[in-house]
Amino acid sequence: MLEMNRNLVLNVLRTGAASRAEVVRQTGLSPATVSLIVSELVESGLVNEVGQGKSSGGRPPVVLRLDDERNNVVGVKLMRQGISVAVTDLRSEVLYSELAPLTLGRSRRREAAGSQGGFDGQTVGPGPVLESVSVAIERSVARAGLGLDQVVGVGIGLAGLVQPGTGVCRYSPPFGWENVAVAAPISDRLRRPVLVDNDVNTLTVAEQWFGRGQGVDNFIVVTVGEGVGAGIVVDGKLYRGAGGAAGEIGHIPLADQPAPCRCGNSGCLEALSSDDAVRRYVAEALERGEQSALAGKDDLSMAALRHAAEAGDRVAIEALEKAGRMLGLGIAGLVNTLDPRLVILSGEGTQAGSLRSDAALAVMRQRSFAGIGRKVDFVVDSTDDVAWARGAACIVLGELFSPPIRRSIELTPIPKRPSRAFADREPSP
Ligand SMILES: [Zn+2]
Repeated sequence: MLEMNRNLVLNVLRTGAASRAEVVRQTGLSPATVSLIVSELVESGLVNEVGQGKSSGGRPPVVLRLDDERNNVVGVKLMRQGISVAVTDLRSEVLYSELAPLTLGRSRRREAAGSQGGFDGQTVGPGPVLESVSVAIERSVARAGLGLDQVVGVGIGLAGLVQPGTGVCRYSPPFGWENVAVAAPISDRLRRPVLVDNDVNTLTVAEQWFGRGQGVDNFIVVTVGEGVGAGIVVDGKLYRGAGGAAGEIGHIPLADQPAPCRCGNSGCLEALSSDDAVRRYVAEALERGEQSALAGKDDLSMAALRHAAEAGDRVAIEALEKAGRMLGLGIAGLVNTLDPRLVILSGEGTQAGSLRSDAALAVMRQRSFAGIGRKVDFVVDSTDDVAWARGAACIVLGELFSPPIRRSIELTPIPKRPSRAFADREPSP
C-alpha cells in the first residue's frame, strides 16, 4: 500500500514541482500520509524542498521537486550498427543524446555493415563492444554538462535474452553471445550501477512512460525488422516471465513449414514475417519467373522494397503483404492470450511502408477469438533509437522510484553534499 502511495506522490512530482497541498489534492491521499512519504523522499535525496509557492494568505507553502541536479540517468540501446545513448533527468527528459559508433574487430566490421545489418551468426568479442559502450557513456555524460557523480545509474537494452536482475545476457543473436556479463565490466569502469534488459522491454517502458502506452494498463508492443519480438504490459507492469524470455514471439511455431529460422527451428513467426522473410518471398517469386523491378538486385534493402511496392511492383507488394498476414496471425495469438487494450507496432521494419502493417492489422482483427481483436486499438509507431535508449533510462528510473526493498540492484540516490561552489574550493583528490 505504501509502495503504491509512494508511486502516486512521485508521479505527481514527475510532472513538475508541487506543494504538499497540491500533492494531497492530486493523489487523494491524506495529508499525514503525504507528509510521511515526502519526508522519506527528501531524506533519500530524490526530492528537494525548494523556494516558496504562492501563498493563499497564511504561511507560504514549501514547493517540492525532484532533485534533477544531483540525480540523472543514462540509457543505452546497444546494436550491431551502433550505440544510441540518452542522458536524461529524473523526469525522463533527454538532456543529451547521440548515436556512437561501435568498435568491432577489423574483420567483423565488414559483416556488420552488410545488407542484413548483422545477424550473421558470428560471435563478436564482448570486450571491445562493452568498452565502446563505456566510452560512449562517459562522452555523453560530459557533453550533457554532467559528471559521472551526477548519474544514479545506467540502463542498457540489447536484443536477446537477459536474465532479470543479473546483468548477464544469456543469449544475444546479433552478437552471438551466450552468458556474457554485460553490466559488470561497465559498472566496474564507470563506478555506477548498471541495469541490463531486453531492448524490446526498454522500448515498451518508453511507450508506457512517454509514448502511446501512457495510462493504458494492458498493452503489447510488437517490433518487426530483422527480428520479431514483443514487450508485454499486464496490469500496468512490464511482464518479463520466469527467466526473462517473455515476449519472444518471433519464435512462436506458426507453421509446419521449411522456412528456416535463425534460432535453429523452422516455421517460426520471425522466419515468416521479418525483413529477411520478405526478401525470401521476393527471391521465391523471382525463381518462379515472376516479373519484377527487383530482379538482379543482390542487396535488397527495405527502402528499395518500399520504393518498388509504391511503384506498383506486384512481387514487392505480395512479399510485404504475405509477411504482414503471417505477422497478423502471430499478433492474433497474442491478443487471444493477453486480451490487451492496445497493440503498438514498432521496429525498423515499419519503415518499409504500411503494406505489412495493414495486412497484419486485417488478419489480427479477423483471426482473434470472439471479435476481441476488433476492439483492440492498433497503432504503428516508428520510434527512433533515442526512444529505445530513453526507455532504458526509464528502467533505471523505475527501479529508483520503487522502494529500496523492492529494487533488483543496489541503486541509491546520490547523497547530498556541499554546494558545488563550496566543493570547487576543496582540493581535488
Ligand atoms: Zn525461431
